[in-house]
Amino acid sequence: MSQKFDVVVIGAGPGGYVAAIRAAQLGLKTACIEKFIGKEGKVVLGGTCLNVGCIPSKALLDSSYKYHEAKEAFAVHGIEAKGVTIDVPAMVARKANIVKNLTGGIATLFKANGVTSFEGHGKLLANKQVEVTGLDGKVEILEAENVIIASGSKPVEIPPAPLTDDVIVDSTGALEFQSVPKKLGVIGAGVIGLELGSVWARLGAEVTVLEALDKFLPAADEQIAKEALKVLTKQGLNIRLGARVTGSEVKKKQVTVTFTDANGEQKETFDKLIVAVGRRPVTANLLAADSGVTIDERGFIFVDDHCKTSVPGVYAIGDVVRGAMLAHKASEEGVMVAERIAGHKAQMNYDLIPSVIYTHPEIAWVGKSEQSLKAEGVEVNVGTFPFAASGRAMAANDTAGLVKVIADAKTDRVLGVHVIGPSAAELVQQGAIAMEFGSSAEDLGMMVFSHPTLSEALHEAALAVNGHAIHIANRKKR
Ligand SMILES: Cc1cc2nc3c(=O)[nH]c(=O)nc-3n(C[C@H](O)[C@H](O)[C@H](O)COP(=O)(O)OP(=O)(O)OC[C@H]3O[C@@H](n4cnc5c(N)ncnc54)[C@H](O)[C@@H]3O)c2cc1C
Repeated sequence: MSQKFDVVVIGAGPGGYVAAIRAAQLGLKTACIEKFIGKEGKVVLGGTCLNVGCIPSKALLDSSYKYHEAKEAFAVHGIEAKGVTIDVPAMVARKANIVKNLTGGIATLFKANGVTSFEGHGKLLANKQVEVTGLDGKVEILEAENVIIASGSKPVEIPPAPLTDDVIVDSTGALEFQSVPKKLGVIGAGVIGLELGSVWARLGAEVTVLEALDKFLPAADEQIAKEALKVLTKQGLNIRLGARVTGSEVKKKQVTVTFTDANGEQKETFDKLIVAVGRRPVTANLLAADSGVTIDERGFIFVDDHCKTSVPGVYAIGDVVRGAMLAHKASEEGVMVAERIAGHKAQMNYDLIPSVIYTHPEIAWVGKSEQSLKAEGVEVNVGTFPFAASGRAMAANDTAGLVKVIADAKTDRVLGVHVIGPSAAELVQQGAIAMEFGSSAEDLGMMVFSHPTLSEALHEAALAVNGHAIHIANRKKR
């Protein structure tokens, strides 16, 4: 006899595992199916984010930054650190340990909340039945009142640079290098390319980033993107815009990449090449022909604002549906869907999903950019504050970048907060909280901020919107 559940979730990434836990918390009998095989040859929970995405990349970013600081930045504090060396396998092993702890933690949370875990491949059939094919090939059918599809995404591969065992790799391979490549090529100057390029550049690789677009970070505010390009280039990342890769040839553990740019055809040889040109939704063998769920023209599962698919009682969340491919977007969709299944009126504010690039300085934003607001014909007032004028940033010797607050010129309501600088991710979150509560720039300016903090830069930028900044000269006096 088939088992019956109120909710069956396919995929245990940050979308799926969060949805499963929240559904179980709300008293719904919940199952979650996962097939990701971890390093130890067993199924592990946590999806891309915990296994090969957010967490392992941040572990390497933090380790590599500490190395870089010890080598390059301690001296200015009067600290002598001679003979600083790097043990790449130890660094990569530390990362693996963090992943193991966190993914194991999800299994514990499932047990604590009463989520039933199934190991294997999940496929949606007609009438909300879900077929689970175990690792041993055994097939089981689950009957579900509701199904949540959270099957995530995988890296896009490109014909001019097909992956090899160890020379041309995707983001997952780039988290596993056991030594520092002398010359590293990265295709794609997006979030993942910049973060992974930064890791290996800090450890000593000569890094070239090939980006087909002429514009750097087109989704970011133009002022912030310009500053980012300047700072990252100064750090040694050779970012080549308008460089379209047309071919690659692997010979003797090296790869020669052919690309065209404004100067015509070029060739560069690298010891490793990371392909980081984006991710695509995972829908292979996921939906039976008569499941009724439709896919949009870009290959994503079609959903409405509440993540409902074309079949009542079937939902899809996270990277497999439209919108930003971000773990926090996936998780919040998971919570919203679980709560709606339980009869609550939950919804999510898609306008306030923060974006972060964990380079150093970090680049982060929430809300709209100045150029997009101008294109919409919205009149704005803008306040900026450079970290070079922040006492806390000076104390930390971390003064690159700025905070930018954009407010509606008529209402003063904050419409965007953009930061490049130390702890930008944390500062932008403060902006997101303010914006969620409809704050004006004046409201933010009237709040008391601890001194000395990096957050004061947000305070000053908010004050600068109306010409009231204290620690810089105001462009507009009001
Ligand atoms: C290198 C890198 C760094 C990143 N850094 C960040 C970051 O700093 N911040 C951030 O917000 N985002 C980051 N991301 C993106 C983030 O990882 C994803 O947005 C997030 O994991 C999406 O969550 P999800 O639950 O939708 O899908 P996933 O995390 O991809 O999980 C989907 C799961 O479903 C399973 N699955 C798929 N099909 C089936 C099936 N048929 N049956 C059973 N199981 C199935 C898969 O095995 C997988 O485990 C990063 C990604 C990468 C690659």
